Amino acid sequence: MRRTMIYCRESCRGALTGGTSMAAYEGTLSVLDREVRYLKGVGPHRADVLSKLGLGTVRDVLYHLPRSYEDRRNLVRICDLTVGRKAVVAGEISSVGFRGGRGGRWGKGVLTVTITDDTGALRLVWFNARSAWQNGFPVGKALTAYGEAGFYDGKVQMAVPTCEVGVGPEETEDFGQILPIYPLTEGISQNMMRKVTRAALEAGAYQVPDLFPERFRVEKGFPAIGDALWHAHYPQEMDGTDRARRRLSYEELLVFQSACAIRRTKMRHTPGIAFRLGPNVDRCIRRLFPFTFTAAQDRVIGELAADMRADRPMNRLLQGDVGCGKTVVALYALLGALAEGRKSYQVALMAPTAVLAEQHCLTLQSVLERARVRTMLLSRSTTGAERTENLRRIAAGEVDLVVGTHALIQGDVEFRNLALLVIDEQHRFGVRQRLALKGKGPSPDCLIMTATPIPRTLALACFGDMDISVIDEMPPGRAGVESELLPPRKWKGAFRAALGELEAGRRAFVIYPLVDESEKVDLQSATEGFEELGAGVFSGVRCCLLHGQMPAERKRRAMEAFRTGECRVMVATTVVEVGIDVPEATVMIIQHAERLGLAQLHQLRGRIGRGEHRGMCFLLAKPTTQEAVERLEVLTETCDGFRIAEADLRIRGPGQFFGTQQSGMPEFKCYDFADTELLAEAREDAFKLVASDPGLKAPQHALLREAVLRQYAPRLELGGAG
Ligand code: ADP
Ligand code: MG
Repeated sequence: MRRTMIYCRESCRGALTGGTSMAAYEGTLSVLDREVRYLKGVGPHRADVLSKLGLGTVRDVLYHLPRSYEDRRNLVRICDLTVGRKAVVAGEISSVGFRGGRGGRWGKGVLTVTITDDTGALRLVWFNARSAWQNGFPVGKALTAYGEAGFYDGKVQMAVPTCEVGVGPEETEDFGQILPIYPLTEGISQNMMRKVTRAALEAGAYQVPDLFPERFRVEKGFPAIGDALWHAHYPQEMDGTDRARRRLSYEELLVFQSACAIRRTKMRHTPGIAFRLGPNVDRCIRRLFPFTFTAAQDRVIGELAADMRADRPMNRLLQGDVGCGKTVVALYALLGALAEGRKSYQVALMAPTAVLAEQHCLTLQSVLERARVRTMLLSRSTTGAERTENLRRIAAGEVDLVVGTHALIQGDVEFRNLALLVIDEQHRFGVRQRLALKGKGPSPDCLIMTATPIPRTLALACFGDMDISVIDEMPPGRAGVESELLPPRKWKGAFRAALGELEAGRRAFVIYPLVDESEKVDLQSATEGFEELGAGVFSGVRCCLLHGQMPAERKRRAMEAFRTGECRVMVATTVVEVGIDVPEATVMIIQHAERLGLAQLHQLRGRIGRGEHRGMCFLLAKPTTQEAVERLEVLTETCDGFRIAEADLRIRGPGQFFGTQQSGMPEFKCYDFADTELLAEAREDAFKLVASDPGLKAPQHALLREAVLRQYAPRLELGGAG
């Protein structure tokens, strides 16, 4: 009699701890979900090291793709070696020599092994070798080596080659093929990694169920999943990985875009608020502003208004450089929502920091007062009875607009009737946080603003579930910013220029990068810089200091002093990139500019040149590589935020581009954002597919559905999708 064993994974684990044998455990668990330590050659220690790379299961290892490859098929005769080219050679060991190092310490020195084949002799050299290594090269034995041929002392030689002794080239696994080069971490070598991926491929590559129905796959010209995985790791030809990687990338994109499509469909069927927002309201709102909107602002307002009038929730991302007038557009939307007085809607504006929330309140104040909007700044520094009272007023609907940080939607705040939520992300992307909002009644509209222009490809790849609006035009009357990249010998000049501007009655920023808020070093450099500058170049000029660790009240005072001109130089960590709007500020000196990303630098300099006088931004840097110089030079060449973002993305890759701790960003393991056509294709396919089968219920979509749920259910709240 046969017993069917169907356990869920949890009950397996339970059974495991209860002493059930390993075999039972393995039998019920898919090979792919098995932990890496059960792979051949991987014990608990290696498993620990692998976990640092995020490799917990066999599946993880299968998708840990090489960053490049090494062609070890090129077996050449010694006489055919080309200097500067990598190649495999094979011969017989003819002599071995060891020369002790100068100090002779630790018995280290230079090891030389000469091999010969029918065509000549080749010297192999290892520096910093131990004398005992000589024993590994018995004269007369066969040796196969891989390395780059060089020229030294009138002869061709190979320095620090990879080699195997005692075997010809056809007998060893590591030669005669293309080998993968993996991203590594401390504690694991390239060789070991290869063993691990091989073991994973052998155990699991052909166990991975193919997401694509056979016909679809053939139509697309994709290899089967098992072959794709093998070829992506161990290609037969150097260009053989292209097809494999293309398939894996497409699959990744299809899964994410399907998640996006499902979420969009879901949003379309979620009841939202249909605001009236008629021409009268439009006229009234416009009259509150002392300027006319730019064409770009008008276009975006049109897009927002259409969303708001629709009876489903708005889910829109608004992009544009600092100062292009996003906040003004958001204010239009906020006022538009509040215009229907009878409905007593409430709206909220959230900023990434308390400083910025406060700044928003200040800049919006005059318009809000004229529109008689009851506004409240809700901050963490208000506590006790006062906070309780504030919360009561929000819950009772006695406040129209609440301004605060992201904590607004996380904690104990309860709205009576929240209708529109505007989230100012500045350059952060915590967008998914909005999901923490649990509404009763119809879902509020949601508008997210970001001042990091995101290249279109990236925006589609990462925010594929949102509508996107772009403001690509600056309000008139901006003098703009001129940027210069300065090597150390020219740094003094920057401070002289700053002094000149100060004398003309303007103001200056000196910025110290704050790479990580917890890093005391950065803070120290700003504090020390503040003291040094105040005693040196800027002696006699009132300076103030601003950094994130200061108490809110002191921050507020510093900003106020700078705004009024009571203090003329602001020494700050990178916190100023969010939220200081002082038209008289014309100079910015950025220390250690090489430590910041382009987008961030661009954002920072957006703080100057906002008035009638042209801004001067000095990037003080000690770039150590040519690449770093080129990177910074982009800033001196263009002020177009999208071009800068594209360069940043190209140079640093998407991970760095968004920073390390981004919530809600999809993690692409294969897709590298280079192939935009593939993205467009996957997106179109995914949206068509979801349109025809919204719950992915059809049997041929079962695997796709499983993949979507496995990867994106918590993030996109797809739990209820099917
Ligand atoms: P962002 O939020 O994109 O940084 P803001 O909305 O804060 O930009 O606008 C920056 C400054 O430009 C503000 O002082 C604002 O009053 C002003 N501004 C915005 N739109 C216009 C416009 N169309 N004409 C003139 N000034 C404008
Ligand atoms: Mg703004």
